Amino acid sequence: MNAVTPTGPVLPAPVGLLAELTHRCPLRCPYCSNPLELDRRSGELDTATWQRVLTEAAGLGVLHVHLSGGEPTARNDIVEITETCAKLGLYSNLITSGVGGALAKLDALYDVGLDHVQLSVQGVDAANAEKIGGLKNAQPQKLAFAERVTQLGLPLTLNSVIHRGNIHEVEGFIDLAVKLGAKRLEVAHTQYYGWAYVNRPALMPDKAQVDRSIRIVEAARERLKGQLVIDLVVPDYYAKYPKACAGGWGRKLMNVTPAGKVLPCHAAETIKQLEFWYVTDHSLGDIWANSPAFTAYRGTDWMQEPCRSCDRREKDWGGCRCQALALAGDAAATDPACSLSPLHAKVRELATEEAAETPPDYVYRTIGSNADRAVRSPLTEEAPQ
Ligand code: SF4
Ligand code: SF4
Repeated sequence: MNAVTPTGPVLPAPVGLLAELTHRCPLRCPYCSNPLELDRRSGELDTATWQRVLTEAAGLGVLHVHLSGGEPTARNDIVEITETCAKLGLYSNLITSGVGGALAKLDALYDVGLDHVQLSVQGVDAANAEKIGGLKNAQPQKLAFAERVTQLGLPLTLNSVIHRGNIHEVEGFIDLAVKLGAKRLEVAHTQYYGWAYVNRPALMPDKAQVDRSIRIVEAARERLKGQLVIDLVVPDYYAKYPKACAGGWGRKLMNVTPAGKVLPCHAAETIKQLEFWYVTDHSLGDIWANSPAFTAYRGTDWMQEPCRSCDRREKDWGGCRCQALALAGDAAATDPACSLSPLHAKVRELATEEAAETPPDYVYRTIGSNADRAVRSPLTEEAPQ
C-alpha cells in the first residue's frame, strides 16, 4: 500500500477523487447532496488548477475520478479535464443529469477517453420526473443522452434516488435500465444531507414502502443476473446498522469542491468546527495526510461508546459524522441510524411520523443565500455545532 505522509504513521492511499467541477446544474432536485450554500461560477477553480489536482491525485495512487457537480458538462473545459484524466491513467466516471449541454459534449468526451457514465434519473413517468427535478422537458433529453451513451459503447449506470415521490416506480426504474441497455442501476434511497435534510418530510417513505422496494430489487437481481447489476442503498433511518460513510472517514475518498476546498465526504462542510484546506494553498498529498478535517475522525481513536468497544467499529467506522451532527448535535456521537445508538428509537419514530404526514411541497435547490434553511436537530433540539 502506498504511503502518502512524510510526518505520521503510514496511511492508505485514497482510491477515489470526487471532483465537483461546478455547482451549476439545470436541475433543482430537492434531495441534492450539495450544500445549501452553493459555490458560484466566479469562485470555481480554473482548468490548470484542476489539471494539477488530477496529476497530484494520480501521484497519490487515486484510481477513479468521478467528474461531478452540479452538472459537470456545464464547464466549458470538461473535455480538457477528461482528457487529462485519460492521459494520467485515471478511470473517469462522468456523473451527469444528461440535460443542458451534456449530449452535445458526449462524443467529444468519448473521443478523449471518457471511461464511464452515471446518469441520474429522477423518475420513470416524465411528468413525475420533471416535477422532482424541477425542470420541464428534462426526461426526453435524458433518454436521448442514454441512447447515445450506449451507441458509443460506453458503460452506463443509471442512478435513481428513491423517496416517497417515486418509490412506487422502483419496478419502472429496473425496466428502464434494461430498456436503455444500462449495465448497472443504483436504487439509492435518499441520504438525508444537504437539500435532502431540508426536504426530509417531503421525501421520507414509510417502512412498508421501503420493505416492498427491497423485495422488488431482490427479485430483479435474481431475474436479471448477468444482465443488470442492481446496487441497493437502504435508507439509514430504517436500517439496523449505518453505512461506512465514504468507506470510512479519510480512508478512501477525497472530495474537491468547485472552489477547491477538500472534504472527506461531500456533506462534511455541515460540521462547522472542522478546518478544511484548499488545493490552492496545499498539495493534495499534504491535505490527505495532515488536513485537520481529514485527521479529525480518521481511525477509531475519536469514538465514543458504544462505537469505541463495538466489534463493527472497523467495518462501518461509526457511520456518518454529518448525520451524527444533524440528529444528535454531536459529530463524534454514534450515528443515530445505528440500532445501538441511544437515539435510534427516536430516529425511527421521527421517520414514521414524517412518512405518515401529508408531504409538504419540495424546497428546490437554488444558488443564493440559504442559511435560513438550516434546521435544528429534531432529536436534541440543539442547534448543530
Ligand atoms: S442531484 Fe439533481 S440538482 Fe443536484 S447536482 Fe444532481 S442533478 Fe443537479
Ligand atoms: S455502535 Fe458504532 S461501530 Fe457499532 S454498529 Fe453502531 S455505528 Fe457501527
